[in-house]
Amino acid sequence: MKYVTEGYQPADALRFFEDISAIPRASGNEAGIAAYMKKFAEDRGLEVHVDEHNNVIIKKPGSKGCENLPPVMLQGHLDIVPEKNQDTVHDWAKDGLKLMITDDGKLTADGTTLGCDDGYAISYMMAVLDRNDLRHPPLECVMTSMEEIGLVGARKMSGEHITAKRMIGMDAGGEGGFLASSAGGNYVYIKVPFNYVSAKGEGLSIRVRGLEGGHSGGMIHMEKGNSNKILGRILYNISKECRFNIASITGGFKGNAIPREADCVIMIQDGTAARAREIIAETEKEIRSELAFSDKGLKVLVDTASAEKMLNIEASQRIVHLSHVLPNGMMMKSMAIEGLTNASLNVGVVTMEEGYVQYEITVRSAEDSLVRSIAEVVYDIAVTAGAECSIGGTYPAFSFDPDSKIRKLVMDVYKETTGKEGVIRAVHGGTEAGVFRALIPGLDIVGLGPNSGGAHTPDEWVDLASYKRAFDLLLKVLDRLCDEK
Ligand SMILES: [Zn+2]
Repeated sequence: MKYVTEGYQPADALRFFEDISAIPRASGNEAGIAAYMKKFAEDRGLEVHVDEHNNVIIKKPGSKGCENLPPVMLQGHLDIVPEKNQDTVHDWAKDGLKLMITDDGKLTADGTTLGCDDGYAISYMMAVLDRNDLRHPPLECVMTSMEEIGLVGARKMSGEHITAKRMIGMDAGGEGGFLASSAGGNYVYIKVPFNYVSAKGEGLSIRVRGLEGGHSGGMIHMEKGNSNKILGRILYNISKECRFNIASITGGFKGNAIPREADCVIMIQDGTAARAREIIAETEKEIRSELAFSDKGLKVLVDTASAEKMLNIEASQRIVHLSHVLPNGMMMKSMAIEGLTNASLNVGVVTMEEGYVQYEITVRSAEDSLVRSIAEVVYDIAVTAGAECSIGGTYPAFSFDPDSKIRKLVMDVYKETTGKEGVIRAVHGGTEAGVFRALIPGLDIVGLGPNSGGAHTPDEWVDLASYKRAFDLLLKVLDRLCDEK
């Protein structure tokens, strides 16, 4: 095989990166890469376990003199997000990636995701497992499946082959930034049952447009407008003076995105359509002013509309009430880590299903207790309003530990080698670190990685010089773990 990274260091890790890039490994299609890793371990006489979900654990004894030290877990995921450009021909079931190096020293893939998320972790682990001249404690290399579709592989792990009480997670890029916390969360679903009745009255369509949206974890503190909530406020304001039924209501597409658009058709029963239009315009003006510095493109489009059927009045009123009162946005910020959201929720999606309107709400927090509490607030509101509610899809938080020993060691080594102060990083989204913290109580965790960008897009890249520095940091940390008492 011809390697495009020929001449770059670390040569072995980069070759392993290219080797795994030749194996299709989109989420859910990890059987091939898992079998490859099993053979990789067996060829080197290493203990290996592959479970039915294609999670792989490879163990390597400590280097000479370090055999009896406490083990350390290295961790990353095998799967990648299969995104490609429209005009790129690529079969994710059988094609390998075409890697390229840009003029400014970045590794990227031609028209597809690169899978540096999380190929850097896998290639680092392979190089550490392959080399015999390193000093390190016993290693437990944990490579998971289906991370990108909901941390699925990690959540299905039994943990029976893991004995380590500390973990270096490698799914969090940004040299000099060290992952110290990630959010847990769940999904809350609210269903408002309705009956259709024949439509009558004056029809108005209301469309919320022009908002920026963004990721409901990483962007929730930016005070972007939520189209479902804006529509709820408009409908509530109309309901104070006008009597109407809802004919249809929808908004947003994904629970983990702040919704940018929402649509509704209402049928006004008391001849007040002209007043309703005034109320919509007044409310739009108010909200535009409130969002002037965070999401200034809001537009509310109003038109006459017609419908054949509309929801019964009780269901219509329930929906107006819920859309108005459901809490949304940042609920609490962290006082331990600057800029971190500690708890939030996102009224992400409103859909019309057979016989009911459904709300999908994403709850996140760095504390599991807050995830539960906020979800229960939503539950209580929904049930009190006469709707049905269920809570599901719970995933655990990696809460911040101010006394983490492994993080201190990694940050000390970083400072010694670069002269720079490392930064504690935290994400308001779910990671496998949270899953492993829940699986192995007291697990001490830190995350590290190279500078990379464009994850989950065909523009994904990793800086090769940074790839080398982050690898060197990992090796130094493993060496230093042998000096720890
Ligand atoms: Zn990842």
